[in-house]
Amino acid sequence: MISVEEALKIIGEHSTDLGSEEIHFSNAKGRVLDEDILADRPFPPFHRATMDGICIALKDWDSGRRSFPVTGEQFAGAPQQELKLGSCMEIMTGAVAPKNANVVIRYEDVTIENGIAAVHSESVTEMMNIHLTGTDAEEGAVLVEKGKRISHGDIGILTSVGKTRVQVKKLPKVAIISTGDELVEPEETPLPHQIRKSNVYTLCSLLNDKGLEFELFHINDELDEIKQALDKILSDFNLILLSGGVSKGKKDFIPEALESHGVKKHFHRIKQRPGKPLWFGSNDKVTVFGFPGNPVSTIACFSVYCRHWLNLSLGLPSNTIHAQLAEDIHFPKELTYFVHVALPNKQGIVKAQSLRGNGSGDLVSLSEAEGFIELPANQSDFKKGDMYRVYLF
Ligand code: AMP
Ligand code: MG
Repeated sequence: MISVEEALKIIGEHSTDLGSEEIHFSNAKGRVLDEDILADRPFPPFHRATMDGICIALKDWDSGRRSFPVTGEQFAGAPQQELKLGSCMEIMTGAVAPKNANVVIRYEDVTIENGIAAVHSESVTEMMNIHLTGTDAEEGAVLVEKGKRISHGDIGILTSVGKTRVQVKKLPKVAIISTGDELVEPEETPLPHQIRKSNVYTLCSLLNDKGLEFELFHINDELDEIKQALDKILSDFNLILLSGGVSKGKKDFIPEALESHGVKKHFHRIKQRPGKPLWFGSNDKVTVFGFPGNPVSTIACFSVYCRHWLNLSLGLPSNTIHAQLAEDIHFPKELTYFVHVALPNKQGIVKAQSLRGNGSGDLVSLSEAEGFIELPANQSDFKKGDMYRVYLF
């Protein structure tokens, strides 16, 4: 058995570059950029009025003029006009400053009567209320860097530079496989000795949340059936998440079946609770996580280990934060203890509120959970107020 740190390190050594693909910007939110996004022109592209009002030439103001005949209008979307010296033009937010105009005075500081604009402000400054060409970004400047996860704001940047198609990191093709003779589908009525599947659907939900696509499979606890099913799945996918069948039960055939198909085991079993029996392996095409079937174990192993692999493979930062334990916890075993927690924010401090319930089979206790707090193996008493790492869902 290895430690949590060793397991994370091994997973890091087996992260994969998934390659790159071009997609339409409307599907790009949350994806990882695989190119720099450059300004195709200066930002803003012209001297832009930032207020509705009038525009004048500063030298007219400096020569003492305070009222100006209105000789035209410069609207947003209209080509640049020329301001006649000694006069003003009305100008709207977003319009190009006319030639000769280097001051915009907002309507609030002006009275226009009989075609004459009288200015009430005491002073004006050069380029007042004008957003100068190229002051946000020069042409060719990097606006969003390669490797960044595309945000809502980035969609606006992509479109403003005309990047309708964008190069992003490919996502893995994921297969989620439930195993177990006791499992039936959610729409079925289980017999007294059966249960409905749940944890694979929680996995689907966790993947959906991050924009990952997947296909679902089910395999019964028969070695031949498992081998046959894996044969096809191993060649069609590059990330496989199995639930169940990796513990010490007499029908836990998953490790054996995977290895017989040439998937190399990198580790099996970690000094932790829950999720001790986690199996991790790969070949040159596919990475496989065999999660123990208990619902809390599955979700813990996904959040800690599979998320780590995904983040590293996509070049993303980790999904961990630190939070303050909201209560004392005593755990004397020499195992890392992952406790599922709610994470209320109390006066700016993230508290980790334990939802321990009745152990790793207690599905209902997951309802309020937002992540798992990691309580280290070399300690037995964890005090309220101490800070520990939390793996977010
Ligand atoms: P296993 O890891 O196969 O020994 O399963 C451990 C426990 O988790 C057993 O009680 C299983 O019935 C349960 N289990 C396995 N797979 C699932 C699943 N997809 N949804 C809910 N419970 C499961
Ligand atoms: Mg099972």
